[in-house]
Amino acid sequence: MLHTEDLVVQFGGVFALGGVNFDLNQGEVHCLIGPNGAGKSTFFKVVTGQIVPTRGRVSLSGDDITGKPSAQIVRRGIGIKMQTPQLFDEMSVEKTIWLGAYRTAGKAKAQQRADELIDELGLSSVARSEVGKLSHGVRQRVEIASVLAGDPALILLDEPAAGMGKADVAFMAELILKLRGRHSFLVVEHDMAFIRSIADCVTVFHQGKIFLEGKCDDVLSDQAVKDIYLGKGRGNA
Ligand code: ADP
Ligand code: MG
Repeated sequence: MLHTEDLVVQFGGVFALGGVNFDLNQGEVHCLIGPNGAGKSTFFKVVTGQIVPTRGRVSLSGDDITGKPSAQIVRRGIGIKMQTPQLFDEMSVEKTIWLGAYRTAGKAKAQQRADELIDELGLSSVARSEVGKLSHGVRQRVEIASVLAGDPALILLDEPAAGMGKADVAFMAELILKLRGRHSFLVVEHDMAFIRSIADCVTVFHQGKIFLEGKCDDVLSDQAVKDIYLGKGRGNA
């Protein structure tokens, strides 16, 4: 579904990505991990159209989307949730989700879609509240709802569990498991327990390259992967 070929991003003398060949299959929850500076955010930004790669290609279901602007990528069925919230604090929860639905489903279907999502994400009690008055965990939920409103085939999440309490993390994990199959997910995340609870497969980035990928349990129990988190990995020794 999502495919990259020899993706290179160079910032001055630094290769943030040094030739990444990545595949995500339809219906899977695919997590991206790796130590600080590994290139995860850069990869995320190339796929979401925020960075144009120095070299290489990104394709979505066979269509070349390399270097296309984010708005166009979203229209092709990719939902993007950045790490920092992209919400308007003064807008109500209801209106925020309605807007997300309106943009893609149109006026006739927007209200119904918004109502469904408010219900599905347990936001009924705060539907009339201003987004800025909510806790971080609930805001994250509102943001996911506004991404889901567009019914994207592929959803990209940058650190969805970061800064959240245990109950909110558990809610997010359950939600992803419930939605999987209907949507595919690419998730950049640090929280290993969260990754264990949602991921089908895991790709480990290290120094701008794919270090290892495979089934979640195999990758997370790999000694070489543990070593790179401790700074003992290949090239760091
Ligand atoms: P991660 O998200 O895995 O922590 P990043 O993708 O943010 O890693 O960074 C990968 C490498 O690229 C790092 O060495 C980082 O310092 C460098 N880098 C990232 N963004 C920029 C930028 N805008 N300008 C210069 N160097 C950058
Ligand atoms: Mg990062």
